[in-house]
Amino acid sequence: MIEHFFTCPNCMTRVSSTVDPDQRKQNFTEDCEYCNHPVSIRLEIEGVDILWFDAICCEEEV
Ligand SMILES: [Zn+2]
Repeated sequence: MIEHFFTCPNCMTRVSSTVDPDQRKQNFTEDCEYCNHPVSIRLEIEGVDILWFDAICCEEEV
């Protein structure tokens, strides 16, 4: 697992997420460890490098 830091779109706190490097494209929801707000995360990974990482507020989606 890779630990990746990102800024929570809700509370703007830098939090970490663990990413499974076996899956190239991922889309999941994770609760912010600081504010507990659900955050929708999208990312693409190659090997052990994260190509891009998107964290958006769940409620702003759809
Ligand atoms: Zn947060």
